Amino acid sequence: HPSAPSLMMNSHFASVGEEASKEAYEHGIQVIDEDKAFNDNLSTYLNLEKIIPAGFNYHLISVFGSQSTGKSTLLNYLFGTQFGVMSEQERRQTTKGIWMSKNKRDGRGMAENILVMDVEGTDGRERGEDQDFERKSALFALATSEVLIVNIWEHQVGLYQGANMGLLKTVFEVNLQLFVKDSKTIPRSLLFFVIRDHLGTTPLHNLQNTLLQDLSRLWSSISKPAGLENSRIEDYFDFAFVALPHKILQPEKFEAEVEDLSKRFREGYKDPKKAGLLDEAELPVFLPEYHRRIPADGFAVYAEGIWDQIVHNKDLDLPTQQELLAQFRCDEISREVLISFDEKITPLEDKQAEDARHGKSSVIPDLGPIMNAARAKILKDFETSASRYHKGVYARKKVELEGKVDTRLKALFQKQLSAAHKSGIETFSNAVSAAVKSGQKKGASYDFAHIVESEKKKALERFESEAQFIHVEGASWSTSQQELSLYQKELDEVSARLRKDEMRRLATRVERWVRSRLDESVGLEFNKIGTGRGGSGAPEHGERPPSEKDLWDRVWTIFTDTVGNAENRFTDRAQSFDASPDEVEVGLWRLRRKSWGVLRAKIDEEVMEGNILLKLRENFEDKFRYDGDGVPRIWKQGDDIEGLYTKARESTIALIPLLSRFRLSKTSAPPPLDAWVGSPPQSVSPADEEDLAPIGGVDEDEGKSLEEEMTILGDAKAADLLVRFKKTADGVYVEAKRSTVSSMTQ
Ligand code: GDP
Ligand code: MG
Repeated sequence: HPSAPSLMMNSHFASVGEEASKEAYEHGIQVIDEDKAFNDNLSTYLNLEKIIPAGFNYHLISVFGSQSTGKSTLLNYLFGTQFGVMSEQERRQTTKGIWMSKNKRDGRGMAENILVMDVEGTDGRERGEDQDFERKSALFALATSEVLIVNIWEHQVGLYQGANMGLLKTVFEVNLQLFVKDSKTIPRSLLFFVIRDHLGTTPLHNLQNTLLQDLSRLWSSISKPAGLENSRIEDYFDFAFVALPHKILQPEKFEAEVEDLSKRFREGYKDPKKAGLLDEAELPVFLPEYHRRIPADGFAVYAEGIWDQIVHNKDLDLPTQQELLAQFRCDEISREVLISFDEKITPLEDKQAEDARHGKSSVIPDLGPIMNAARAKILKDFETSASRYHKGVYARKKVELEGKVDTRLKALFQKQLSAAHKSGIETFSNAVSAAVKSGQKKGASYDFAHIVESEKKKALERFESEAQFIHVEGASWSTSQQELSLYQKELDEVSARLRKDEMRRLATRVERWVRSRLDESVGLEFNKIGTGRGGSGAPEHGERPPSEKDLWDRVWTIFTDTVGNAENRFTDRAQSFDASPDEVEVGLWRLRRKSWGVLRAKIDEEVMEGNILLKLRENFEDKFRYDGDGVPRIWKQGDDIEGLYTKARESTIALIPLLSRFRLSKTSAPPPLDAWVGSPPQSVSPADEEDLAPIGGVDEDEGKSLEEEMTILGDAKAADLLVRFKKTADGVYVEAKRSTVSSMTQ
């Protein structure tokens, strides 16, 4: 037997007032009342009796027979039921409609879960001419029951015109009507004749033969549907016979034989050989082929549907009823199994929806195992309960359920994947930045390209393993190549952005280097003005070198050398992290422009009013107060102070126009800054130009010529400087003059 399914239907009935309910169903349940109304509480009762989870592991028996032939009494003895029994004194009909009760004597070799239906007496004595109920109850019993017990008195045997024959005729006709439509699978039923008040004078065997003869006569007399004219009664029914002694007169014997009879209500075999070993009187009653194959959890719905068709005199089409039942139950089971699926999955869906509302996304830990477990469980649960129903309907409903489940899981999957995508990109970007920062901190030159490559590899692995982790076994989708390549593409984009940042950092570092180099070396050149010994010539040989004349040549050389050096550094480093030739070209172009700005600022600082005036004064004093060997002059009477003064002053004054314009001595023209900077590279972007100051003569549309760019001191400033310098020089001269006068007076 199939084991009991895990699914419990209407399980709340079992807990709420179970004891009270049990009392209410002490006598079983009246499935159909005297007004032919179906009892809505049948499933409550079946649940109470724990039949619902039994699957196919249950049995249905109906009892037929005339009024007051001791049917209910027999059932109560046989199955420990408490069907109402007519009291000996009143002799009034007690059983009305159809009652059902579960066997209370199971566990003593009897089959499990035997349900017995006690059908209202069928001789119509108290219902008058109401043959209608007889027919309807027969239909109902046949559509549901495996075994029909026909209860008759011994003295009724052979009375072919008796009430029992009327009943059996109805049963046979109804049977043909019921099962002809489904001729492929004709379920057999067992007609179990229980002969009451058996005196013992006529052996059971003889009674049996008489009954069989009557039955085949009856069978041949009924009108059969087309195509079934030659069908035999044995095609549809098996027969069994038992005789019981008089219950009132031989109570002990009656009870003992009922006890024997009860042993036959056990599971039978399909294998006839096994059955053949037994005495006919001991054969088991329940053969698998009798079973109507209505799963226990669908029985109440099925029975109600059947009864509804019967009551409304509709053609009872069992296959259609079974399909309808299957649809109904499969839907119900779907809803039921979805409950525990929802318990697991809905909170995750809510979490993602909540995230989406806040414009964020987060990776749900353990999503993969949760989804897989939930999917496997719901499909397994559904299969366990629903696969007992009509195969076609079950298959269709299973696909439906799978579709529903997979749609939801796929949404979870994709949102998780996009969260993994986002967080993967973020992690990647952060990891690269952190590695760069720690590289900078250590002061070591870190390998940017290597950092990016290894972090990118990790990021890809993480994404792939996350996708693998949330793969749903058996589902119709998986991570597409597209999702992966989208991720890869974004990693590349972020890498490019990070590399650009790194280029900027590199540029800043190189610029800083250029600035400090120029600060030092250009400053040095300007300081030489102060000594009046500027220039590369050797002052120690007495001859004054061309000094300041080639100041700008030296500055230009220093500048281009320094920047050239910086360019090499920049290029080497940028190439080390796979910067594109275009990126390098733009970077170098920017570096040259910015370096020019640095130099220009340095020069401006050097020629600031106070600085340059001081240097001119030093230059003048050096020429005026020191002789050609650098020895300070002591003014004596008769020295040509005025002559020396004029010579030194004019020489220094000559520096002002020289300083005013950045020109190379060879060409007397400005340095070729425009050519040196070069025109903007093709790939330069507006962002690259954003922070660049315009350069006269280089940026033509600036309206400033190279000549102007190279003007260090404007005419007004130069004139002003000249006036100030002259005043300073005059002061020095007066002081010198005064010193000779004072030396004379000593
Ligand atoms: P039902 O209408 O067929 O269910 O019959 P009941 O079980 O209510 O019994 C009807 C009457 O028959 C009751 O008074 C019983 O005591 C009596 N009765 C029960 N069993 C037997 C039996 O084996 N033989 C006879 N003669 N009477 C019986
Ligand atoms: Mg009865």
